[in-house]
Amino acid sequence: MDLPFGTQTPELDVLIVGAGLSGLASALKIQTKESTLKVRIIEASDRLGGQLGQNAIRFVDGEQKDMLDFLTLIQLSPRRRRSDNDRLRRCWDLDRGLTALPAKFELGRYIEMLDLRMPKFRSKRFNLRERVSNMDQHICHHLFFNKSRNFMLNLVELVCGLPANEVDYDVFMSVCSSCGGLKMLIDFYFTHPSSFYEVSTQQLIENILEQMQFTTVTLNCRAVKVEHFKNYVQVTDEREQKHTAQAVILAIPWNKVQQLEFDPRIPKAFLPPLATKSGHNPRRLITQFHLRYGKSVWAELGYSGNFLSSQPMVSGHECRMSTFCGYMLHSPEEQDDVLEDLMDALAEQFGEEMRQPLECQCSTDELSVAMHKPQTKPWHRVIWSSSSAVGTSYRSLMGGAVQSGVRAAVNALFVVRPQVVSWKDMLDERQNRTTPDGVRTGRLRGLLSRLNLYNVTFYSFFVLGLIWLLNLGYGRASAS
Ligand SMILES: Cc1cc2nc3c(=O)[nH]c(=O)nc-3n(C[C@H](O)[C@H](O)[C@H](O)COP(=O)(O)OP(=O)(O)OC[C@H]3O[C@@H](n4cnc5c(N)ncnc54)[C@H](O)[C@@H]3O)c2cc1C
Repeated sequence: MDLPFGTQTPELDVLIVGAGLSGLASALKIQTKESTLKVRIIEASDRLGGQLGQNAIRFVDGEQKDMLDFLTLIQLSPRRRRSDNDRLRRCWDLDRGLTALPAKFELGRYIEMLDLRMPKFRSKRFNLRERVSNMDQHICHHLFFNKSRNFMLNLVELVCGLPANEVDYDVFMSVCSSCGGLKMLIDFYFTHPSSFYEVSTQQLIENILEQMQFTTVTLNCRAVKVEHFKNYVQVTDEREQKHTAQAVILAIPWNKVQQLEFDPRIPKAFLPPLATKSGHNPRRLITQFHLRYGKSVWAELGYSGNFLSSQPMVSGHECRMSTFCGYMLHSPEEQDDVLEDLMDALAEQFGEEMRQPLECQCSTDELSVAMHKPQTKPWHRVIWSSSSAVGTSYRSLMGGAVQSGVRAAVNALFVVRPQVVSWKDMLDERQNRTTPDGVRTGRLRGLLSRLNLYNVTFYSFFVLGLIWLLNLGYGRASAS
């Protein structure tokens, strides 16, 4: 497409839209390569960090190399997750009641089955088949108990950003595969094993800011329009202020990119089709909470603090001594009741004391939708970033945010100051493997993984096999 020439001289070298982890990582990379460049970040909300939330704890596994290198760069040493609570019980609704054992059994088998099938979805990522079942149907066909169904329905929503009936089986598998696998995602969102490193998001943002003295950040400034000229890009914010730059990094999730007005429109080749069939995207919100108490109420009851409720979907854990944090999934209509519902859920399990925290912080974000083919190439001077929008080894996780941010920074440097880009940056910029190597699966393992309480086909084969064996035994006995 031929872009028109603009008439202005751009005031900035690089403009970054979005001060989430990917936007901050881009700014830091640009600044470490060339501190004389004029870089500005504009952020829609009144705080930095985006999905990192306020004062939360995040987990990083040893495989997220980009994230660990980034932490070394900003001089933050992650600590191994504390394990002295391991002997205490977890408080999950999945563990309670008479049906706990079979429900966990069928859930374990189902997760194993999906994980074993996942490597197949890497090569034909987002090549959607027709008439494939949606995840809601798939879950209901394979799982019998409500507990295990609810666990999976919540997981699909968390990972894809949409309810399970809007998510095709193929898409879910492709998204999970590009996020490092299903078991990995369950660990990140629910179980937090002690093999993980812990990072305080507040500390993370403070350390990034310390190293980013030359970049200006404007908060409460939402980009609404992007005009792409041959020689620069002009971004207009809600207050009609114009920001012109030689290159623009859009470090925002793809559902937010779609809310921007583009002139000229983004060419089709750059528009990753949203995989949802109905075209209707109900917004889902995630509220992250951080509650500080005088003592660890949960530990006195014999609980580690690891909490999971599926209706409403609340996941929490003790992030520091006597501090409880986590998140709750809800619709925009439920926004006003979030704190009350959260307290109800916690008080029911850990006692009324949970209703009176000494300190309470909450932050709400729209859930990112990761249901499209990840972006890989920039559109001239407009460069895509964000963990959920761009193809990385750890899509939707912090490692993915940093990887996409660094890659976007190198692309921007190519536009504004190509002479500072080294061969090493170019190697980093080249898209790494989008997923870590999957498990090699044998046919027998794949077949056995289908053994589940609710798998009628498996039962039929089992019964037919049994009849055949009995028949054979009877035949031999009567012959002798
Ligand atoms: C509850 C929860 C727990 C998680 N736990 C982990 C974990 O343990 N480990 C892990 O590795 N990852 C975890 N993640 C994922 C990780 O936090 C995210 O992948 C990462 O923070 C995403 O960063 P980002 O910069 O790509 O996007 P975002 O954080 O979404 O940043 C985008 C920013 O752009 C701003 N913005 C949007 N639109 C505009 C606009 N028009 N103009 C200006 N600004 C705009 C937004 O306000 C936001 O600040 C978790 C995520 C959540 C929600």
